[in-house]
Amino acid sequence: MHRSRNIKIVATLGPASNDYEMISALFEAGADVFRLNMSHGDHSEIAARHAIIRKVEQDYDRPIAILADLQGPKLRCGVFANGSETLTNGQSFRFDLAEEEGDAKRVTLPHPEIFAALRPGARLLVNDGKIRAEVVECGPDFADCKIIAGGEISNRKGVNVPDVVLPLAALSEKDRRDLEFVCELGVDWLALSFVQRPEDMVEARELAKGRAAILAKIEKPAAVEAFEAILAVSDGIMVARGDLGVELPVQNVPPIQKRLIRKCRSAAKPVIVATQMLESMIESPMPTRAEVSDVANAIYEGADAVMLSAESAAGQYPIDAVKTMNNVAVEIESDPNFRVIVEASRQIDYKGVADRIVSAARELAESSDVKAICCFTHSGTTAALVSRERPRVPIIALTPFIATARRLCLWNGTNCAVTGEVDRFKMAVVSAARAARAMDIATPEDQIVVTAGVPFNMSGTTNILRVAPCEERLIFSGEPS
Ligand code: PGA
Ligand code: MN
Repeated sequence: MHRSRNIKIVATLGPASNDYEMISALFEAGADVFRLNMSHGDHSEIAARHAIIRKVEQDYDRPIAILADLQGPKLRCGVFANGSETLTNGQSFRFDLAEEEGDAKRVTLPHPEIFAALRPGARLLVNDGKIRAEVVECGPDFADCKIIAGGEISNRKGVNVPDVVLPLAALSEKDRRDLEFVCELGVDWLALSFVQRPEDMVEARELAKGRAAILAKIEKPAAVEAFEAILAVSDGIMVARGDLGVELPVQNVPPIQKRLIRKCRSAAKPVIVATQMLESMIESPMPTRAEVSDVANAIYEGADAVMLSAESAAGQYPIDAVKTMNNVAVEIESDPNFRVIVEASRQIDYKGVADRIVSAARELAESSDVKAICCFTHSGTTAALVSRERPRVPIIALTPFIATARRLCLWNGTNCAVTGEVDRFKMAVVSAARAARAMDIATPEDQIVVTAGVPFNMSGTTNILRVAPCEERLIFSGEPS
């Protein structure tokens, strides 16, 4: 089984997607990466979801990436006695530090630093800005507000305070505990919320100690400004449009999305476009035309992955949402115009031998009849370079390390598999051909492109490019050892 599209689908897990049946159904429908949101669920729930994903991975014999999204200095309200309340325009509503569960008149906002910084007239935006409140009066432990735009407010919804500057640390005590917990569980990616400076990523990397790759969520104006420096110290990026579109005017989000995607592709680092992609599918089995266009646009722009949030975590149609993304991707990627756009947007500053080998592999794949580009990779770097080329044929990434295979699932176009260590080129070709056949990407009559590095078992040595047959007898008769 392999996907008939290159863009990856990240599905967030939550109450609507907690058990083996649902998670395996999401995987079958097309989810390549599962996101565990550390803002919701305690450690035992996170561990249970993690274990189920690893079981699915084993049962389908396909590496799956798990991304743990750290809450970061995300401000959230507390919980409600009834789970949720509906606020109406013009009503009064209080945010405070009291510990009681919320009701129609008040809710806890457990962040004293907000109350210290608030002024009358400042806005509090709840749930990606859907609810707007304006401060009328405030003190060190409360803010009495007027609701400007009402709606449903529910447990632990995000709160933005765009009008005041808050002195926030990158990683809270909770984030540090969560980071250690998920690294020990064995997640593949860590996402950091509300990154403001490159130093925030450096701090996370020091704590992760190589146990997971680290991804910066771009959702603050400061992060947009410092983007190059943040990208340089990150392994990947998320265009976190939910908070970004609240912290900045919404019309600023599309050009930022375009710019970030282009920069990430040049750097061969994966970029996820996130939030509200199929928002209406939380409650409807059909997406809006505008949502389909949004997903399509991210694909045309060359993103590595598109993401589902509440659609798969808490919605009524998680499987339909994944299927919708999959169907849109298959259709867009087969549009001849898509190839034209992808080719036109390839901006690569080729530097070393590995860069040029993979570029040659892509050219070969375009000009001759080969079914896949297979690359042997230890750290994942070579596969990332192949992905950056956005070749026409599938990429097969072969690695001795399951951790590398899992991480690579986030890059556009990769099909990952673990192989034993190969120490001769003939063996490399044999395992590449076997993988291509096992994934139904090639038949024994087909040819594949193989890249590898000699000496084997060393990172960063990619120096061989070979067009090889897929049939074993031919490999053994024709291959230099
Ligand atoms: P969140 O991040 O869902 O954790 O808020 C994504 C976003 O802000 O878009
Ligand atoms: Mn966010």
